[in-house]
Amino acid sequence: MNSPTAARAALTDHLFRGVRDLGVILVGRDGVITDWSIGAEAITGHAASDAVGRRLVELLLNETREPLDDVIASIDANGVHVVEGWAVRPDGTRYWIEESWSAIRGPDGVAGYAILLRDRTAEKERLEALERARATFEGILAIGADAIVCIDQDQRITFFSHGAEAIFGYSASEILGQPLDVLLPDAACEIHRSHVHHFAASGVTSRLMGERGQIYGKRKNGEIFPAEASISQLGVGDGRVYTAVLRDVTERRAAEEAIAAHSRELARSNADLEQFAYVASHDLQEPLRMVASYTTLLGRRYRGKLDADADEFIHYAVDGVTRMQALINDLLAYSRVGRKPREFTDVDMDEVLMSALQDLETAAREAGATVTADPLPVVRGDRNQLGQVMRNLLSNAFKFRGSEPPVVHVGAERDGTEYVFSVRDNGIGIAPEFAERIFAVFQRLHSRDEYPGTGIGLSICRKIVEQHGGRIWVESTGGPGSTFHFTLPASENEDR
Ligand code: ADP
Repeated sequence: MNSPTAARAALTDHLFRGVRDLGVILVGRDGVITDWSIGAEAITGHAASDAVGRRLVELLLNETREPLDDVIASIDANGVHVVEGWAVRPDGTRYWIEESWSAIRGPDGVAGYAILLRDRTAEKERLEALERARATFEGILAIGADAIVCIDQDQRITFFSHGAEAIFGYSASEILGQPLDVLLPDAACEIHRSHVHHFAASGVTSRLMGERGQIYGKRKNGEIFPAEASISQLGVGDGRVYTAVLRDVTERRAAEEAIAAHSRELARSNADLEQFAYVASHDLQEPLRMVASYTTLLGRRYRGKLDADADEFIHYAVDGVTRMQALINDLLAYSRVGRKPREFTDVDMDEVLMSALQDLETAAREAGATVTADPLPVVRGDRNQLGQVMRNLLSNAFKFRGSEPPVVHVGAERDGTEYVFSVRDNGIGIAPEFAERIFAVFQRLHSRDEYPGTGIGLSICRKIVEQHGGRIWVESTGGPGSTFHFTLPASENEDR
């Protein structure tokens, strides 16, 4: 056993009969299998008795196998030849096999070939999984216009996506390995370092950046831009990888600022307009009152004393001035809505409906109206103003009646945090094309002779409802009947 020959024989025996995770195969110069180890049996699923006397192409890799001559040429050139590929066992399972061929040389030249077999399925699957992950990652990177930047625990840049190149103006090759500071405004570097430090200590895997204030990036040309970013951290070995996904929000910020400036301007000009309407209607009242009282006086004192024309002229003057007073009063009422600071309380809409009906008792009786209602909820609002809305809607329902006496129903339905109220009548209806117009100041669909009014009621309703954070609209097909809807926020204290 001490002689090298005996040791070699023992080793060969061990290789053929003891080792299961490495296959050993011998083939003759003609490619016919002469020996098949226990490992080759375990790996390929073919018994030695089945394999010996056949060729490898009949057992393994039969689809992708190169011709034996090519293998031999490769061994002659390189000493060994390695082949790998998917193979299938007799039981149908797939495995990734690696064959490493070398020549067995005897005194008369090449006597045959020794082949070592390894099952590399696990490794192959790992590689494929990695490849899939890489492809997924590449895919994600290719989609976004966002910058994806990875840094290591020393805050040096280890990855810089195409999006990052476009946003920052650096190419990946010039930025990799540089400290993150080059991408930040000078003033932010120190703060950023401490944030990353805290983030690392927090153990949280990902979070939005800039929660404590706006964050900014710095482009290659020195330009500072507003950004939105989130960061994640992963421990890899002893170190850490931080990945920041960053979006340039310059344009969005500019658009937001433009909208904000525009709505400030709008609010200001609205306020100016309301102020003007208020002052004008308020100051016009006094001289108008004077004109009204003197024309009325003229009418009373001189009726029948001048000629018929004079009587008629005075009548028109009185009529005109009375109308003008009504318009000015309405305008004043409209511009008063919202002039005093809002003080919202819990308002029981049942009570609001009851007192509106009391106020309108005469009108309801004259019209022969029937009013029914669901139980109404408690909402947040200004009691007087909500009373005004209810009165306006009910009086319209009585006024714009058809040939039948008015039948009116007041309802309310909960919709999330608000209530949708409805006032439904069986009156003359509203053509859908006017559904929006009727809410504008002084817009009416009828002459004064048909239905009295100034056209301010619904615009006041809209203003009040909108100041309560709600909406108001009408549903009507143009046939008989209209339903006015308005929404109001529910009270948090309501017990229904
Ligand atoms: P006014 O009642 O003084 O005319 P409003 O602003 O209250 O002013 O209403 C505007 C117009 O909307 C009315 O002139 C009328 O044409 C229409 N309208 C309002 N309510 C109803 C209703 N319930 N049915 C039919 N038409 C209505």
